[in-house]
Amino acid sequence: MKPADLVLINGNIITMNPKQPHAQAIAIKYDRIIEFGTNDEVKPLINRNTKIIDLKGKIVTPGFIDTHVHISGFGRSLTTIDLRGVNSIEEMQRKLKEQVQKTAKDRWILGHGWDQERFKEKRYPTRWDLDESSPNISVTLRRVCGHICVVNSKALELANITRETKSPSGGGIDKDTKTGEPTGILRENAMDLILKIIPKPDEKKFMKACALACQKAAKAGLTGVHWIIDSPTEISVIQKLRAQNELPLRVYILIPVEFLDYLIRLGLHTGFGDNLVRIGCIKILADGSLGARTAALKEPYSDYPKTKGMMLYTLEELNRLVIEAHKADFQLAIHAIGDRTVEIVLNALEEALSRVPRENHRHRIEHASVLNEETIRRMKRLNLIASVQPHFVVSDFWAADRVGPERARWVYPFKSLVEEGVMVTGGSDCPVEPINPLFGIQAAVAREILPEERVTVGDALRMYTINAAYASFEDDIKGSVEVGKLADLVVLSKNPLTVELDRIGGIEVKMTIVGGKVVYDVL
Ligand SMILES: [Zn+2]
Repeated sequence: MKPADLVLINGNIITMNPKQPHAQAIAIKYDRIIEFGTNDEVKPLINRNTKIIDLKGKIVTPGFIDTHVHISGFGRSLTTIDLRGVNSIEEMQRKLKEQVQKTAKDRWILGHGWDQERFKEKRYPTRWDLDESSPNISVTLRRVCGHICVVNSKALELANITRETKSPSGGGIDKDTKTGEPTGILRENAMDLILKIIPKPDEKKFMKACALACQKAAKAGLTGVHWIIDSPTEISVIQKLRAQNELPLRVYILIPVEFLDYLIRLGLHTGFGDNLVRIGCIKILADGSLGARTAALKEPYSDYPKTKGMMLYTLEELNRLVIEAHKADFQLAIHAIGDRTVEIVLNALEEALSRVPRENHRHRIEHASVLNEETIRRMKRLNLIASVQPHFVVSDFWAADRVGPERARWVYPFKSLVEEGVMVTGGSDCPVEPINPLFGIQAAVAREILPEERVTVGDALRMYTINAAYASFEDDIKGSVEVGKLADLVVLSKNPLTVELDRIGGIEVKMTIVGGKVVYDVL
């Protein structure tokens, strides 16, 4: 065998490979693992051209893969007001005021992350709250879920939203019950009225934001992301970043269903690309969020019985999109949070699979938040992937209020999914939640809400490694330490399998290696 380019020795390697779960050393040639085992087994591959990294007992795992990230949103969030953790409208106003002072009059101020459940005022913010801080510069602040925003009067004026404006289908413009004036709260599709008039950042700035987001992801130990794009510009940005050597991790692209026709006409489908950049799923947004009470439930919301949430497509339209994408050899990733949506999506997928059987479809339900025993069984029967975001359990501490105690038993039931044999993968939904996969792993194994649904650390690690690789049809080339697989690895300060469960999120990433190349290093 040829000598290795890079050898890691003296490590404590968690391989996620059941045939040989532990190792001390790994040898890498080009971008692949060519040997692993004890130090003595790997040493013969070292010659004078081999770079050696002495791990001094540190932990190595396969690189983490996040199966649900909005990289451009993450990049943007790094340059806009971060309102996560803000505890009052007053504090939100203060942060906004600071931003006003450094913003030119003709710009828009963007922000993200507020959650009215945290506010001591216990209500939604309004345009009038924002006007106090920013009377002249347009402001759009998205709720933490991304499905609702609040805008100020200036923004409403520019978008020409008045008391006469009707809510678009699949969206809502909140109006004051007395005066009929829009309150500044826009839900789901109504947000487009504003989003479409916000001047786009120039491409250079946008690229920089995406590059920064990718760097942050690599720093967090991610060697791959399933990147949900909003617009074709992002595909172009991904290619340019790659050409400029600024893409530090692997990208599996999730494309909104509105582009399905173009893709089909071009003859593209899931899997096109290479190990660095690949076309992934068609993404369908079937409903909203629990936080915004726009996720479609079978029964009304417990804390607001006037609504059951909303589906974003008619039944016919959803069925048509699912069968078309499925027929065209696309993998589907369908955002479904409410139990009504999950059921409707299962029906659509079941119908598509019976009309056009396909063994290895790996269709996914994104979030799969409110389930029950029957939907879990059906997910297994249809061989679907549950692409879940464990950190929601921490942030959505109010979820039980939304759905009441009976349904709350089946909100994010990770262990039940795993025990049923459903393939579960881990994601962040960043910028909704922090990018750090170790936060997600901790949330999955040490959740305080519904502790009976905790999974083991081994299960949680699988969600972010080998299972995530499966979710992009790449479990044969990554996701575990095996000879011939891509050398995607992460070096950690502590062992997640032995550290106290509530300390996992505090484990530091010391090094990230993608295809044998060190992309982050503080070892
Ligand atoms: Zn998302």
